This record gives sequence, structure tokens and C-alpha cells, in this order.
Amino acid sequence: MATAAKIDQIRTIDPEEERAFMDAIDRWMEREVIPVIKHHDHNDLWPAELVEQMAEMGLFGATIGQEYGGLGLPATTYAKIVMKISSHWMAITGIFNSHLIMAAAVERFGTAQQKAKWLPKFATGEIRGGLALTEPNAGTDLQAIRTVARKDENGDYILNGTKTWISNALNGSCFALLAKTDPKAEPRYKGMSLFIADKRDGLSTGKKFDKLGYKAIDSAELVMEDYRIPADQLIGGEEGQGFFQATGGLELGRINVAARGVGLAEGSLRLATEYSQQRETMGKPIAQHQAIQLKLGEMVTRARAARLLTLDASEAYDRGERCDKEAGIAKYFASEAAVENSQEAMRIFGGYSYSKEYDIERFYRDSMLMCIGEGTNEMQRIIIAKQHLKENQI
Ligand SMILES: Cc1cc2nc3c(=O)[nH]c(=O)nc-3n(C[C@H](O)[C@H](O)[C@H](O)COP(=O)(O)OP(=O)(O)OC[C@H]3O[C@@H](n4cnc5c(N)ncnc54)[C@H](O)[C@@H]3O)c2cc1C
Repeated sequence: MATAAKIDQIRTIDPEEERAFMDAIDRWMEREVIPVIKHHDHNDLWPAELVEQMAEMGLFGATIGQEYGGLGLPATTYAKIVMKISSHWMAITGIFNSHLIMAAAVERFGTAQQKAKWLPKFATGEIRGGLALTEPNAGTDLQAIRTVARKDENGDYILNGTKTWISNALNGSCFALLAKTDPKAEPRYKGMSLFIADKRDGLSTGKKFDKLGYKAIDSAELVMEDYRIPADQLIGGEEGQGFFQATGGLELGRINVAARGVGLAEGSLRLATEYSQQRETMGKPIAQHQAIQLKLGEMVTRARAARLLTLDASEAYDRGERCDKEAGIAKYFASEAAVENSQEAMRIFGGYSYSKEYDIERFYRDSMLMCIGEGTNEMQRIIIAKQHLKENQI
């Protein structure tokens, strides 16, 4: 597969190998995934069998280095996989995406002992999980979290607090979890630390959200009540690094959300293209009406631009360049493209868009999340503008 590399080093893949991997994903989607999407989505059911198959294909180790048993894929290949799966069903990508963000935090910032202990089990999917940052009072303003980790006389950390909206909270067993080791620190980020938080006494799952979309993957609270974590599960072994560790993976995280947006935008376009050639009004397929062609023309353009921006950001990432602005631009544009294309496709489907017999309603429900995750699009535009101004000071 890809050349062995640390996560921050340049990764490449032989084009033939990439094609073979993408073909395998195609076959899996056709045979196993597409036939069961509606059942799982409409009933909000955890796709246990598909999760087993994802583990067999290596998806839980997709971006983890080969030296730890992962596939060590470049960000570009990974983005293409996410685009492909999301063009049919975005939600299942969340099962391995959130997990890989946790793994990336350990791989980038963990001690040698932490990497050796945790990454091989993350790579096989034996231990699966996600990222636990958000709290009831703190989403965008991450530094406002209230979870506190205090060191006791044995050197362990005792955590108390509540995380909310955590993907894989029910079905996962381990999380990269942000807490305050010094709640009084100023500036606030200096008192934040990131832990490898595995489920055991003191860490339980709270309320599960009944969501508009993003079904089948669970989003729930994680509650910590005198939850004890050994000191060797403090990522990197040094307090006060958590804010940077948690936000340090955002480039990859944003490329990932952008790729999901591309998939949703392209999938909406595919469905609208098919439907508009089948449905007839005034004696001809609606695709022959200019009003529909105007919509399709815009949808094609948005989907293409979203793909190119996402590949641009992921290629820069794979070259080892700083690409936070590129990743932010791709995330912003692709997520808005997902929303706009799914809405336009709903209009093209007319009344049938409102029937759960058709897939387009799922794209419509799933798209909006892309504008919220990995930094809301409001914040995204502000960050892009600030970076732009910094680069263009007069
Ligand atoms: C389905 C789902 C899955 C999720 N999965 C996870 C997960 O796995 N792990 C995790 O940690 N979190 C997760 N989240 C939480 C997600 O990251 C947060 O919802 C997101 O960061 C926004 O935070 P918030 O909801 O508290 O909104 P708020 O921060 O309250 O923001 C509300 C609004 O105000 C705007 N706003 C806030 N501050 C500013 C500002 N300074 N300037 C301008 N506008 C501002 C925002 O853009 C937004 O429009 C998930 C959320 C959802 C819905």
C-alpha cells in the first residue's frame, strides 16, 4: 500500500494500488452497503455487520502509519474514499472518521509508549472510538469547557464533567477527551490537556440524541463521575498541550468534512440527473426544460469546484505543506455545495422529494451537518479572512 511514513511526513501511493483500493470500495458499496442504507437510516440502526466489514478492509487504520498496522494512506486517497462512500451514504463515514481523528491525535502527539500500546488496536478496529471535545456550554468556544482533571496522590487523574454530541459515544470504547488540568490558567488554553479516555468505571454514556439526519451512527453524551485515568494516558505526557493537540488535527479533519460534502454534492447531482431524465412533464423529460438545466448546470459546477478545492487541500497536506487556509476554504465551500445541491435536487424531485421511498431526502437531512462540524462555517469564513489579511498586510 502506501509508503511507510509518520503522519506528519509526506505520504504517497502507487496509482495502481489506489485504483485497486477504490475498486474494492466500489464493490463493497454495491454489494453490502447500498442495499441496506434505507433500513439503517430510517430506523436509526447501528450497522454492526458493515462495521465488521470496514474493519476487515482496514478502514479503521486508513490513515494510521503502517508501522502500527494501519494502511498509512495519503490524505488525498483517504479523501477520495470518503467522497465515494458519502456519495451514497455520508453517515457511515463518521464511524471511522471520528475514530481516525482520535488515532491521529495519539499518532501525532503521543509518547512512543502510547503509540505502541494504542495504535495497533485502533488500526484493526479492536478498539474504536472518537473525539470528545464539545460540552453543553462549549462548542465553538472550546476553551470554555468545564470538565476538570485533577491529579490525585497516586498520580492518576480524576475527571468530572459532561461531554455532549460525541459521535460513537455508545458504540465506541475509547476517546481523545479534552479536559482542564488547570481550570484557572490564563490564557485558558494553557490549562487544557487531552487524554486517551477508555470506557471503564466512572465514564458512562448519557443521553443519545434523536437527530434530523446522520442516522445509524450514535451521537450521545459522555458523563464522567470521579472517572480515574492513569497518568500514562495523558497524550504526550505533558499537561497544558491539549488545546493544540485537539485543534492540531483540524487540517485533516476539515479535509475530511470537505470530502463528505463533495460526496453529498455529487450524490445529490447523480440522483437529480437520473430523475430529471425519467420524469416527464409537458410531453418531455424535465431535464429538457431550461429551468431544470439551469439547476443542473449550477450543481455540476459546485460539485466539481468542491472536489477540486478538496483535492487541492489534501495534496498540499500530503506534500507536508501548511494548508489550514486551503482546508478551511475546501470545508466551507464543499459543505455549502452539499446543502445547495441537495436542496436543488429536492426541487427537481418535486413532491417525490418528500417521500422516504427516494434517497434524496436523506442527502437533504445529512447535508446541513457539514456546515456545523469541524468549525462552523461562520467561524470558517472568519478564519479564512483573518489568514488572508495576515498574508496581505499593507
Ligand atoms: C451530529 C453531530 C455530531 C457531532 N460530533 C461531535 C464529536 O464527535 N465530538 C465533539 O467534540 N463534538 C461533536 N459535535 C459538536 C460540534 O462540534 C458542535 O456542535 C460545533 O462545534 C458547534 O458548537 P455549538 O453547537 O455549541 O454551537 P455554538 O458554539 O453555540 O454556536 C452557535 C452559533 O453561533 C456562532 N458563533 C459562535 N461563536 C461565534 C463567534 N465568535 N463569531 C461568530 N459566530 C459565532 C456559530 O457559528 C453558530 O452559528 C457534533 C455535533 C453534531 C450536531
